[in-house]
Amino acid sequence: MNVNQSAPPVPPFGQNQPIYPGYHQSSYGGQPGPAAPATPYGAYNGPVPGYQQAPPQGVPRAPPSSGAPPASAAQVPCGQTTYGQFGQGDIQNGPSSTAQMQRVPGSQQFGPPLAPVVSQPAVLQPYGPPPTSTQVTAQLAGMQISGAVAQAPPPSGLGYGPPTSLASASGNFPNSGPYGSYPQSQVPPLSQAQGHPGVQPPLRSAPPLASSFTSPASGGPRMPSMTGPLPPGQGFGSLPVNQANHVSSPPAHALPPGTQMTGPPVPPLPPMHSPQQPGYQLQQNGSFGPARGPQPNYESPYPGAPTFGSQPGPPQPLPPKRLDPDAIPSPIQVIEDDRNNRGSEPFVTGVRGQVPPLVTTNFLVKDQGNASPRYIRCTSYNIPCTSDMAKQAQVPLAAVIKPLARLPPEEASPYVVDHGESGPLRCNRCKAYMCPLMTFIEGGRRFQCSFCSCINDVPPQYFQHLDHTGKRVDAYDRPELSLGSYEFLATVDYCKNNKFPSPPAFIFMIDVSYNAIRTGLVRLLCEELKSLLDYLPREGGAEESAIRVGFVTYNKVLHFYNVKSSLAQPQMMVVSDVADMFVPLLDGFLVNVSESRAVITSLLDQIPEMFADTRETETVFAPVIQAGMEALKAAECAGKLFLFHTSLPIAEAPGKLKNRDDRKLINTDKEKTLFQPQTGTYQTLAKECVAQGCCVDLFLFPNQYVDVATLSVVPQLTGGSVYKYACFQVENDQERFLSDLRRDVQKVVGFDAVMRVRTSTGIRAVDFFGAFYMSNTTDVELAGLDGDKTVTVEFKHDDRLNEESGALLQCALLYTSCAGQRRLRIHNLALNCCTQLADLYRNCETDTLINYMAKFAYRAVLSSPVKTVRDTLITQCAQILACYRKNCASPSSAGQLILPECMKLLPVYLNCVLKSDVLQPGAEVTTDDRAYVRQLVSSMDVAETNVFFYPRLLPLTKSPLDSTTEPPAVRASEERLSSGDIYLLENGLNLFVWVGASVQQGVVQSLFNVSSFSQITSGLSVLPVLDNPLSKKVRGLIDSLRAQRMRYMKLIVVKQEDKLEMLFKHFLVEDKSLSGGASYVDFLCHMHKEIRQLLS
Ligand SMILES: [Zn+2]
Repeated sequence: MNVNQSAPPVPPFGQNQPIYPGYHQSSYGGQPGPAAPATPYGAYNGPVPGYQQAPPQGVPRAPPSSGAPPASAAQVPCGQTTYGQFGQGDIQNGPSSTAQMQRVPGSQQFGPPLAPVVSQPAVLQPYGPPPTSTQVTAQLAGMQISGAVAQAPPPSGLGYGPPTSLASASGNFPNSGPYGSYPQSQVPPLSQAQGHPGVQPPLRSAPPLASSFTSPASGGPRMPSMTGPLPPGQGFGSLPVNQANHVSSPPAHALPPGTQMTGPPVPPLPPMHSPQQPGYQLQQNGSFGPARGPQPNYESPYPGAPTFGSQPGPPQPLPPKRLDPDAIPSPIQVIEDDRNNRGSEPFVTGVRGQVPPLVTTNFLVKDQGNASPRYIRCTSYNIPCTSDMAKQAQVPLAAVIKPLARLPPEEASPYVVDHGESGPLRCNRCKAYMCPLMTFIEGGRRFQCSFCSCINDVPPQYFQHLDHTGKRVDAYDRPELSLGSYEFLATVDYCKNNKFPSPPAFIFMIDVSYNAIRTGLVRLLCEELKSLLDYLPREGGAEESAIRVGFVTYNKVLHFYNVKSSLAQPQMMVVSDVADMFVPLLDGFLVNVSESRAVITSLLDQIPEMFADTRETETVFAPVIQAGMEALKAAECAGKLFLFHTSLPIAEAPGKLKNRDDRKLINTDKEKTLFQPQTGTYQTLAKECVAQGCCVDLFLFPNQYVDVATLSVVPQLTGGSVYKYACFQVENDQERFLSDLRRDVQKVVGFDAVMRVRTSTGIRAVDFFGAFYMSNTTDVELAGLDGDKTVTVEFKHDDRLNEESGALLQCALLYTSCAGQRRLRIHNLALNCCTQLADLYRNCETDTLINYMAKFAYRAVLSSPVKTVRDTLITQCAQILACYRKNCASPSSAGQLILPECMKLLPVYLNCVLKSDVLQPGAEVTTDDRAYVRQLVSSMDVAETNVFFYPRLLPLTKSPLDSTTEPPAVRASEERLSSGDIYLLENGLNLFVWVGASVQQGVVQSLFNVSSFSQITSGLSVLPVLDNPLSKKVRGLIDSLRAQRMRYMKLIVVKQEDKLEMLFKHFLVEDKSLSGGASYVDFLCHMHKEIRQLLS
């Protein structure tokens, strides 16, 4: 059933809503009801302690009144359904990615500048006292190295606070040594300070707009990921030191030491020496930033690299220069600033176009009419009015939508609204659902759709009077009139074949071939299932789950089990005709757990024994999925298959695969074939699964290549998940596997879902990224959708937008709940529109941009050479930044890199995407790993992509033992590691504890229970449980990090200078990678060069 279908016939007007318990419909068509009717149900929209002070800015909406409709959950009859209404078109995820890769150079000037705001690039954050935005701004504003006049209207919205501007060092990189191009980003700061960093920045009246940097001058580093080495001096073009507009350089003390000043004219500066600037210490070695003690092991991380701490490097035509890593935008600082500035107040969603706090900030959300950022995040909250502007800026307009996102306990789940037989009220023309964005007119008798402007009659049973502001007097009693997110109970018209669905089923399908038995997997799994089946998802306060379960085991043949409650023992039925799969039994295959508990337990006890002596090594795969899907079809229900699989399916059967792994294809035009499925069988099968509402979760336990790219096709297209445990061993991996399994089985999931995103006139959804299937260009079909999965949607203009009405999104998800109830979940979001590019750049969210760009790139590798994909990303990023430079910043020296405040992390994050395993694999990364990560990222939310691409590195031994908060993170670079400390690194999938070689013996004892560094076992995966504060603190932190992430992160203890350290260093993403990925500093220089080329 399509979300987009016409509303069902409306029952006779005047009929009371059959189900809206507790809601006082006192006056249909009569007198205005009380503004805040007393209602028997709870605090929907009622006062929330401590939140009432937050003014509903910008939105004509009074604070919520006390009364509220209930979360009514009417009992819905369960009927039988038949399926087959899904299209049978080709698998299609919207326009091909190649079409997306055309980029329009951002070059033309848009719009006249408004009141100019003076901004001054200044030296960046790392020095700094507590980074509140005003302090930082003031400090940055004063660091006037080169003035940038921003042509921009005053800041709008509550975005990121005033933009800051910054400038930094310029310099170059001596090309010497084996890693000659990049050594300086890896080494301690230069000693030949050219000035004092201790500068007292004067306050400025206007907030600065841009972050700016000066790039290294001639002879700068080349990009390792680019084609071929460039000779020194040609890498990034020469930057003349004495530029025409380079008015007498301000004193070098305005710059980080070791840098050469370049830049545009600089207004006279106030006296600058102020060594007492708090938190802004002059280091002995002339470096900025946090004090770092001597790091004996880090003088020269690369053999042969010059030791820059002691000598200036090879002779240069220019004075030695370098880009100080502390002077370029720091993810850590941006995250900390946002936490400090925005973590304390709830985010109130009443304001259109408001940029939410970063995903790394803990905050509560108060829904006042727009969907919480937990459900929808956008790349920009201010959309250009015209398509020309959008093309000029090249900023992708996209939303990352997580329709069933889980909320923290402090926030209420969406209320369920039941409009009875009439169903939800919709616009007659565009079918948008009733929402706070609709405008009631003519005394409340009609409403105008905000999406398509159509005027609709209000059905009599829905009539309500308007107050003097034109708002319905019952607006605050109805979730659909006052909240950004809510649910409607769907009527039978929204169900397949016009029948209410049956409760879904879970089928556990267990590989019992030799490998699965030998590793102990089967025994472990069967033992776990005995208790796990008590925790199947339940709805609301239901005592037991409505979900039925079934069991299949398989190797080359399939074994079905009858576990009917009346049986004394389970019965096995073998199907060996895998070419024509059928389900040998209907009655007794899918059962209620509590009714059949004894038989199920008996079965799970017997399975490991039955196959204990198996010699069968071959497996089938497609027939297993086929069997599960057929079983659901026979039972006329949706559901989920849990497959536990160990090997490449080489047995003779449909979907048989061959080993086609070929690393020689890497970096060739055929590399894309490594990501493509080797047969079309699985797409066809996936399409059938989607039609049945059969979602597939795949747990892989491979010892060698299993062709994840092919095996993950069905999970990917059915909204399922893939888990991979390479070289599984019970003793090492059971905790991780069982933790993932428990979470996966228990998580709330919607079935047989269709998602549609409607937009107001002017823009429309054109492309979709994620784990789903599409048979047309608008409906995202999800056999299953859980609370972790996101769909990223890209929008394009199809008309002009206007600033007054803004741009509106409505995401409607039709799904079957785990109790079999058919529902519609609605999320609404209103965005601003702008005629000034500066407004776009001021309201962007880089984390969301990166989520989009990563998904775009990870899909593009299916059809384009990886290098082309990387180049496309670089070009797009350069165009985005060049457009800003050209249109929003003042003319200034080309030697200066100016970044929009909201995008100052775009280069560092993009570089992390570019050097990720999918786009630039290291030698240790397998083809299966790449395919696995590729599909994993495709449904990640913004928080997950953020930490996945830029891991968190936490010092464990620096903060006081009694501090209860997480230690502040440090930048992901080897330079930030001190050999006297222990660090923890995590990226959502991996977790490392890195131990420095000179850590105090007492610390080693407290954490590892051994007396010296050398006795610590490298590769340890469990920390000993010791009764001391340090041990408790570190283990507590690890537990808390694991709880935050979607998957269990296995711990690996890595010792400094141990061979395992290479694995760890792979995640130090600001450094040059072994696979050739650029360091952050070098990438920033490269980006600068690209921007300059676009501007010239
Ligand atoms: Zn409409």
